[in-house]
Amino acid sequence: MTSVWNLANPQLRELISYEPGKPIEDLARELGIAPGDIIKLASNENPLGPSPKALAAMRTMLDRANFYPDGGGYYLREAIAERFGLRRENVILGNGSNEIIEFLGHAFLRPGDEVVTSEHAFAVYYLMAQLFGARTVEVPEQPGFIQDLEATLQAITPKTRQVYITSPNNPTGTVVSAEAIAQFMAQVPESVTVVFDEAYHEFVDDPPDTLRYVREGRNVIVLRTFSKIQGLANLRVGYGMASAEMIEILQKTRQPFNVNGIAQAGALAGLADEEHQRRTKAVTDEGRAYLQAEFARLELEYVPSHANFILVRVGDGKAIFESLLRRGIIVRGMNSYKLPEWVRVSVGTMDENRRFVAALEEVLPG
Ligand SMILES: *Cc1c(COP(=O)(O)O)cnc(C)c1O
Repeated sequence: MTSVWNLANPQLRELISYEPGKPIEDLARELGIAPGDIIKLASNENPLGPSPKALAAMRTMLDRANFYPDGGGYYLREAIAERFGLRRENVILGNGSNEIIEFLGHAFLRPGDEVVTSEHAFAVYYLMAQLFGARTVEVPEQPGFIQDLEATLQAITPKTRQVYITSPNNPTGTVVSAEAIAQFMAQVPESVTVVFDEAYHEFVDDPPDTLRYVREGRNVIVLRTFSKIQGLANLRVGYGMASAEMIEILQKTRQPFNVNGIAQAGALAGLADEEHQRRTKAVTDEGRAYLQAEFARLELEYVPSHANFILVRVGDGKAIFESLLRRGIIVRGMNSYKLPEWVRVSVGTMDENRRFVAALEEVLPG
């Protein structure tokens, strides 16, 4: 019998599926302990949980679970547009902002095209490019793991369709300066879609204004999400902001009800809860400063972070990851990012951060 692989799209052979952070339930089962005894600092989730206002809105919407959601996402798109001085026509919702990366593939990528990313960029860009038969060109970073936008310009060829600029970047936590972005935007060819992935935007103190390029009608899209500062990762809801024309194209690529109504209700209420976002940022700022100071004390190299996670060099990353697992702590190994000496740890509550540091000290060699 011939393998059904012979019938599959050839680019799928090479595709290595996304490896998510280890779920709490998996580790609880393996260790035979309660899920409540496990600390997960692996997926940059909000340790405070969702906004109480988002929870209330979602509970109300549960009673309407028999109805299809508003496929047009009217209220949520309207609220996002109003927040950023745009029109509803400038906003698209996704099942996580990850889904919008897929829409960009459906809309613009053909086999043989090129997508330019940074060396240690978020894995999903490569996965989506591969899905559509496009090649990913990874540009080396500047010292300090900073995305190099001058080198990115040099990497653009007539085949380049998309460039990803991720600030803060995952897994490095580094940002790109406003000057570097302005220089880049002054030179990038109009035929290249610039994707600003800003999943961690709200954690940055003084972020560059990339929405100005949307307002100017440039070939850009700005991606943000409710998964990180909003603490709604389980709902899968993110959004993209772009010219009305770009949004019109992307809308054609999505399923009619891609974002469920409970997610829309939770996101809408969460967006308005600025107090919850302020608290989350304060907890993150405090925890990040604590963790970075502890890494310095332990003489561990780390990348100063602008987001809610830190990349830290621990020696044998896989061994440390596994030793921490045995102590009920889940971090993220970095082998798939070709950083085998590093792990990425999300900022938790101060209690979680302290437990993590204590366990780390136990498992570090020497
Ligand atoms: C977490 C993250 C996202 C957002 O993912 P969702 O699909 O919205 O949950 C996007 N980009 C980067 C770089 C991320 O780290």
